[in-house]
Amino acid sequence: MKVKEIEVNRFISKSEIDGIDFVINSYVGCPNACMYCYASYMQNFSGHQEEWGTFLDVKKTNYKLLKRSVEGKTYLMSSTTDCYNSYEKKYELTRNILKQLINFNVNLIIETKNELILRDLDLLKQIRNLKVIISLNTLDDKFRQDIEKESSINSRLKTIQELVKNGLEVIVNISPIFPYLTDYKKIIEKTKKYVSEYKFQFLELKSGSKRKALKYIGDKYPNYYLEYAKIYLLNDTEYFDKLKKEIEEYCNRLGLKYYF
Ligand code: SF4
Repeated sequence: MKVKEIEVNRFISKSEIDGIDFVINSYVGCPNACMYCYASYMQNFSGHQEEWGTFLDVKKTNYKLLKRSVEGKTYLMSSTTDCYNSYEKKYELTRNILKQLINFNVNLIIETKNELILRDLDLLKQIRNLKVIISLNTLDDKFRQDIEKESSINSRLKTIQELVKNGLEVIVNISPIFPYLTDYKKIIEKTKKYVSEYKFQFLELKSGSKRKALKYIGDKYPNYYLEYAKIYLLNDTEYFDKLKKEIEEYCNRLGLKYYF
């Protein structure tokens, strides 16, 4: 991993995501190196030629949040990196930002795959309006290792339980749903005792990640390759249209809170 410290003016930026005022991305790049990463397009703007998941810029800044710009706003941490990636253990950028956020009345959404979030329970418990979203799209750790580098399934399940035990609200993001490979019912069965809500996102593939993912499916799951080609090369929406209805019926039957 090529790690570089860079000086920046601030750690927040205005968001174009519905319902989110600001996003906080303290790192450029992401050691999780997910095969399907939507954020890998960042590479085009960051000047990096290296492959996604092999570089990390650590954003150093003395930026201080001001009450008038912060109060009542909704923050997402993070949208183009994992704010609890393994390098956060050393750099503590996320922890230092939390130390500022606890002084204000903010809505904070933290999205991560990593157990390191548990290090910051002392601060997280002080955020008045916090939701933690943990992403999980399989219970099969071999498949997980093929598509994501950091954070085992067991560590994510443990993280969910610990967060809830500590009184925090956890949403499980069943994402991205890989056609024929993600068993959403198994994930729900395993987690529903703890989780307040589910989010579902279907696998979207763009340029580089499309090539990688289709090659992977062709090599590892050749029996599904034609189905993937229908969805991702011919833009056939039938599979996900049907799956969406099935998920809605399933969640409604179980009385689960969910959204897409
Ligand atoms: S954790 Fe998120 S930002 Fe990081 S590589 Fe995976 S999808 Fe991309």
